[in-house]
Amino acid sequence: ESVKSEKLFDHLKATMEGGKSPDLDESGSILTVKRKGRVSHYLFSVTPVSTGFGDLRGAALLLRDITKLKELDQMKSDFISTASHELRTPLTTIEMSVGLLMEKEYENLDEKGKELLNAAQEELARLKALTDDLLDLSRIESGKVLMNMEPVSASELIEKTAKIMQKQADERTIELETEADAALPPIKADANKITWVITNLVSNALRYTERGGHIKLLAKRSGNKIEITVADDGAGIPYEFQSKIFEKFVRVEGDNQPRGTGLGLAICREIVRAHGGTIWVESVPGKGSAFTFSLQAAENNERRKEI
Ligand code: ADP
Repeated sequence: ESVKSEKLFDHLKATMEGGKSPDLDESGSILTVKRKGRVSHYLFSVTPVSTGFGDLRGAALLLRDITKLKELDQMKSDFISTASHELRTPLTTIEMSVGLLMEKEYENLDEKGKELLNAAQEELARLKALTDDLLDLSRIESGKVLMNMEPVSASELIEKTAKIMQKQADERTIELETEADAALPPIKADANKITWVITNLVSNALRYTERGGHIKLLAKRSGNKIEITVADDGAGIPYEFQSKIFEKFVRVEGDNQPRGTGLGLAICREIVRAHGGTIWVESVPGKGSAFTFSLQAAENNERRKEI
């Protein structure tokens, strides 16, 4: 079945001829096979194999069955879509009622009543934040969010985000710095959505970094891509969680930060994917984390070659 796949065959051929593993992104390295009405998904990798005497002999193809993971992911998406829609209307009603009670009845309540009403308002804000996250994710996943792509400057984006987050950093006495390669070409992106991604990464970094820590926002060029990194010298992420934290609802075990939903990074990944980019993390527990995403530069390769 895999040999029948033209995509895989081309990768194998190129690997055997070029002696180099293909440069594949996540969606490019999945093979989908229909077998007796059942769909299976395989994550593949191609590695050149040489004899050690210079002559390249072949390539090793590794296929990992990820059908169960894909199905689970689909179930989460379906749940998110249903939950976000079903919860919105009742939440709005409750919000109005609590708002009205706060306005009209608060002063007439005894201490216990006031405490309960305050708690209700706080919990409501948490639920709203959760349903907003769910709705955002479900909209992006279903392709309902239009990306307003235009050439934007990566260094301006990090500067702008640093400005937005400066106050929160000051409150936590954390140093926030930016650094960008000179003369970076613009990226093709929806500026608001990418700002949202950077803001989210910085607010995570602020949450998981002690007072007196450092956060750095970097923009640099890597081939025809631009990489934006948010690095901190905070808590870091245990190795076993590093490949999972971009999944929906995944939070590091023992993470007792309030307000977390485990959806922030999943939304970041969907936005970056919708731009045709990739996002990853490098982290050493106890030393810090660096979240990086890469996006295509707006200029095209052909023109660069001519120049
Ligand atoms: P949450 O809403 O819980 O923050 P995210 O998807 O944004 O959800 O993050 C998932 C988990 O990844 C967090 O619960 C946290 O444990 C971990 N994490 C994210 N960013 C950092 C960071 N900069 N440093 C340490 N841990 C982090």
